Amino acid sequence: MIGPVVMKFGGTSVGGATAMLQVARIVSRTTGDRVVVVSAMSGVTDALLAAGAAACSGDAGDVAARVAFLEARHRAAVDALFPSGTAARELWTDIAVHLEDLRAVLRSAAVLREVTPRGLDRVAAVGELLSSRIIAALLGSQGIAARWVDARCAVLTDANFGAAQPLAERTHLAISREMRPVLATDEIPVVGGFVGATEAGVTTTLGRGGSDYSAALIGEALEACEIQIWTDVDGMLTADPRVVADAQPVAHLSFDEASELAYFGAKVLHPSTIIPAIARNIPVRILNTARPENPGSVITARRSPGFRPLAAIACKRHVTVVNVTSTRMLLAHGFLRRVFEVFERHATSVDVVTTSEISVSMTLDDDRRIAAIERDLAEFATVQVERELAIVSAVGDNLRADPALAVSVIAAFGRLPLRMVSQAASRRNVTVVLDDADVAAAMSRLHAEFFSTVGVER
Ligand code: ADP
Ligand code: ASP
Ligand code: MG
Repeated sequence: MIGPVVMKFGGTSVGGATAMLQVARIVSRTTGDRVVVVSAMSGVTDALLAAGAAACSGDAGDVAARVAFLEARHRAAVDALFPSGTAARELWTDIAVHLEDLRAVLRSAAVLREVTPRGLDRVAAVGELLSSRIIAALLGSQGIAARWVDARCAVLTDANFGAAQPLAERTHLAISREMRPVLATDEIPVVGGFVGATEAGVTTTLGRGGSDYSAALIGEALEACEIQIWTDVDGMLTADPRVVADAQPVAHLSFDEASELAYFGAKVLHPSTIIPAIARNIPVRILNTARPENPGSVITARRSPGFRPLAAIACKRHVTVVNVTSTRMLLAHGFLRRVFEVFERHATSVDVVTTSEISVSMTLDDDRRIAAIERDLAEFATVQVERELAIVSAVGDNLRADPALAVSVIAAFGRLPLRMVSQAASRRNVTVVLDDADVAAAMSRLHAEFFSTVGVER
């Protein structure tokens, strides 16, 4: 038996009534078993988190206005999609329950002038709960048998609010339990991405952009034949289109290439998405909701030998570098352990690391706890913090086979000052750290060197 296609639609793809109708069109044109995973309507997660922050100031009026705005946004979509009638009334009854819950959580936060990470997850989850309710009802109203599935019953996680980790085995079982019976009756399960719950039923979220990850977890549990990520660009592009104007779609990438690109800033894919896909060797396809006829990008275990040396380039902007220097580091075992323990204690992950005999430099993209980190490191080393830097990464499986390629990547940066240079053991990427102000120049030089001259790979 062939497994279902998991179809995940991102925020812009469900951004309003017109976009949602296009989603219904795409789902209806796909044959066989399907599972639909949706993000919140574009901008809604940001608005919910802002409402949570507003509650901390205790301004109940401001909070109420923000919720009213969110309600109106969803109301407008529902009114445009459903002529008044029983279906619309039932849908709005379900939506009202989520909105009432949201109001209650925010009211109590405003009274306390504090929102805990646990409370904030309950708030942030509302976006996906609402959008998935609307899409399930929309498919039903178009004669496509669909059933809403509560993500909080399907994706079971630890209690690391804001970036919860799925509990692999339990999530696997819960997804099967919630979705297989729906598929067995030829209905399409429709579920909000990004959202999960602890085993005790406390709402969690998987971290920003986490709907892709939800889709992949579902794909793994149901042994999907394909995981489709429907978004607002034509696939994984050769570079971030916001930085390089002539970025082009990459037809085919390997799992390893895609996960390195996602890790180093290609926002189109959440960095964890590929892990469940690898586990079951499920192809991941990235497609444009606005142009469904385009082939998009396909990600599989191995890339077909293309004529492009690199798969794509990526960048992460506004990162902070911490330089730790100590003459005692010279030959001292245990020094790096002490350094990394500090980052662990402050729950901050590091991306790129380079070392010399007396110093170690690390990049962080989340520097919220930098003051405490700096204080702790200063107890045993000299610390220097540099802001407004950026990571640029060139990714391609060919870097493993062709040592000259890494040299040409570095050469392409010309005289732009590089602060750090790194090639990890995977040898699938060459990564540099430079001033954020130099990112556009660095990316366009790399792009011109490796992509613009070769033409479109198809
Ligand atoms: P969605 O809401 O559909 O999940 P995202 O905003 O999370 O969409 O991801 C899509 C965006 O990722 C694109 O609009 C694009 O601006 C950005 N992006 C960054 N790097 C890349 C890349 N290499 N290829 C494609 N998109 C990229
Ligand atoms: N809505 C969530 C976010 O904006 C998750 C997602 O879109 O993937 O981060
Ligand atoms: Mg996304």
